Amino acid sequence: MFILKNGRLVVGDGRTPAFTGSLVIDGDRIAAAGPDDYTGGLDDTVVDLGGRLVLPGALDCHAHAVAPGPRFASGTPGVSLPEVMGNLRRHLSQGHTTVVDLDGFKLPAETTQVTGQPVRVASSTVHFEPMFQAADAADGSGLTAAHRDMTAAAMADAGAVVIGEVGAGMTLGGGGQDYLYIPAAVEKATGTRLTPAQSKALKYAVLGRHIRPGAPDTGAVRRLLTEYGLAERLPVADAVALIEDSVLPSFQTALDGLVRSADLAVDLGIPTLVHNSAPSDEAARTAAKVAGPLFIGGHTNHGTFSADEAVASARYIREQGGHVELDTFDAWGRRELHAAPEHLIALVQEGLVDVIATDYASGHWDGVFSAVEAIVGVGLASLEAAVAMVSGNVARALPRLGDRGLLRPGRLADVVVTSPRHPSDIELVIVGGEVVLAAEGSGLREPAR
Ligand SMILES: [Zn+2]
Repeated sequence: MFILKNGRLVVGDGRTPAFTGSLVIDGDRIAAAGPDDYTGGLDDTVVDLGGRLVLPGALDCHAHAVAPGPRFASGTPGVSLPEVMGNLRRHLSQGHTTVVDLDGFKLPAETTQVTGQPVRVASSTVHFEPMFQAADAADGSGLTAAHRDMTAAAMADAGAVVIGEVGAGMTLGGGGQDYLYIPAAVEKATGTRLTPAQSKALKYAVLGRHIRPGAPDTGAVRRLLTEYGLAERLPVADAVALIEDSVLPSFQTALDGLVRSADLAVDLGIPTLVHNSAPSDEAARTAAKVAGPLFIGGHTNHGTFSADEAVASARYIREQGGHVELDTFDAWGRRELHAAPEHLIALVQEGLVDVIATDYASGHWDGVFSAVEAIVGVGLASLEAAVAMVSGNVARALPRLGDRGLLRPGRLADVVVTSPRHPSDIELVIVGGEVVLAAEGSGLREPAR
């Protein structure tokens, strides 16, 4: 047996008060988690944690680019295998022991290419119409015949844990447009590459944050083009057409796909995780009503919402029995796409959060324990409640992850050990009973087994 003693255990169910005790691991499963001070037998490996926190490994249900193959609901070509492996190392160092790859067009054969590293990668599916059609309208260049022949039902049979991500920033005028397609289109037209923030400002001037065509604010467009040094090279009318041509072709089709995903969730018995944002709010509500507990409102703290809109959306989802998911984006680190975590804080304050995940943030996502630390640090939620948002609650929203997410006998021994005052300082990560990461300077080493 592998025994972690003298730890401060947080079960992950959001109810059991944290307690000082031991976690006993037998093979790849948890054998016991209790206040007893197990001393262990001769054959046991015992590590004294000196009061450190022992938490369930985080289940990140909203990740991208964690396996080779097409990305996002736009079917964008994938990143290289080395970059994928780098992304998974980043997840591991953030204490995420399971990540759900929400690039729903991938095939099982692509996801199994990352089995040689410790993070468990679960798959999703958007292999249905009109999702293919929406992808092609935005991009679709990463989709092969094999991707197009796959079906959601076959993916569910092969173990996909969720339908998603249904819609995306790329197909619904969100952040994916700001860091991917709009900068590329402007660069092609002018030779200048805009930052995501500049692209977003231009997009809002043309379509507003609800993506409503036909009433561009040409004064604002002119002002921005001057500010970006593009006024000479890009006339206002051309800029308006460029933004519309980038954002609009996939937009309505992606909304149709979002609504359709609710029926599919009911048919297949797995949840649908949708791109929830101001432009997709209405479609998301329609889907939530149909799917009920099989609905997950992805990043309900999306930057296109006002704080009030985000709260109203979360309330509606809860009324339908669905789950509210928030993402960290890059709110604590780079702050390029999302300057501050204020919507996240507002939703936690209202008690409307079920699950916290990461999303991609152009490859600069912050770990979910950063959000846990922030929420607990300002007293918005108890440590027990905040930890549940990244563990037990996720396993409840995605029942196919029900063998993990809690420090309870019989569950998979996927565990993180962190600093008691700084839960985002990940000191030890255990997956399937094996120590897979021991942070330097933590004083915790991989024990000889
Ligand atoms: Zn999204």
